[in-house]
Amino acid sequence: MTLTNRELKRYDRQINIQEFGRKGQENLKKAHVVVAGAGGLGSSVSLYLTAAGIGHISVIDHETIELSNLNRQILHWEKDIGKSKVESAVEKLTQINSDIEITGIKEKINEENVLKLLKGADAVVDCMDNFRTRFILNDAILKLEIPFFHGACYGFEGRATTIIPKKTPCLRCIIPKSPPERKVPIMGTTPGTIGTIQATEVIKFFAGIKLLLTNKLLIYDSRYLTYDLIKIERNPKCPSCGD
Ligand SMILES: [Zn+2]
Repeated sequence: MTLTNRELKRYDRQINIQEFGRKGQENLKKAHVVVAGAGGLGSSVSLYLTAAGIGHISVIDHETIELSNLNRQILHWEKDIGKSKVESAVEKLTQINSDIEITGIKEKINEENVLKLLKGADAVVDCMDNFRTRFILNDAILKLEIPFFHGACYGFEGRATTIIPKKTPCLRCIIPKSPPERKVPIMGTTPGTIGTIQATEVIKFFAGIKLLLTNKLLIYDSRYLTYDLIKIERNPKCPSCGD
């Protein structure tokens, strides 16, 4: 997939990175990435993937925008309150980059529709706010054998890891049981940071830059500004990916 003159100009600064180059940009253009969730993490992830030139981005979310979302969901503005998150996301993202394809899917992800929703995707970014849906996505990406870029936030803390089916631990290897579902407190910038890390991982993955957050869990604490990397391993008895 060759790049147009406009694309060469638009992405010039990243094409100029030695390990990235034209080939990296062409691979980004070929990719179809699903951003599951258009909230705090989804805002940051989708903005950067759009700007970077991922060829096709699908954003899935079923919610509508509320005032209490605006401290962190920077894709959505005051004028959007009451609108669906997907509609607002598509509107903003197409204005940032009209050279790529952006699809909005207003649906709640469940066991029945997940494979249909992820059809044709080359990767999924976990921008959910609950582990029940994260596990549904986790099981689906294992079936589809596509990478899954996990991110989660609580207060000042955020976590991220990159899951490659059969090669790295899956989400259930590291979190066997879903934590209780409740409204979690979130410092607005935490999903900004974690989402940027997830987007960086997606871009590196498609550009062929091998140093990924695989077999490692990154734990970020914005109070102390610490980033800890914890080694993680596959659980052979994992209900999702075990033998
Ligand atoms: Zn597993």
